[in-house]
Amino acid sequence: MTTPATPPPDFRLRRILRLALRALARRCPNCGHGGIFLSYFRLRTSCLECGLRLDRGEPGYQVGAYMFNLVAAELLFAVLLVAALAATWPDPPWALLTYGGAALMVFLPVALYPFAKTLFLAFDLVFRPQGAER
Ligand SMILES: [Zn+2]
Repeated sequence: MTTPATPPPDFRLRRILRLALRALARRCPNCGHGGIFLSYFRLRTSCLECGLRLDRGEPGYQVGAYMFNLVAAELLFAVLLVAALAATWPDPPWALLTYGGAALMVFLPVALYPFAKTLFLAFDLVFRPQGAER
């Protein structure tokens, strides 16, 4: 019995951009087909068009997406905070920044969650193209 060959990583810039843009549109990064979400937060088990397993066949695969989501939310928060400080310096509205920042830290991870899932999937597809799942 032979095992199927694992496709090599594909680092072509055009492909990486295509995967990322499809992911940002909440589409299947692999084929661009929509409808991979059952709800705002829940992914299907596989793409209806290309059959890509959206959990890549690994238990706990989504933990990477959670980490990706938290890092993206923290970075976006930092950028927004610095932009608000720069725009209002030397008299920043500290109370608004404090409470608005707290609200953003709750809102951003929730809002970015589905995008983090598809972006993490696109990132994974760069290193492990379809066919490399177990
Ligand atoms: Zn697909």
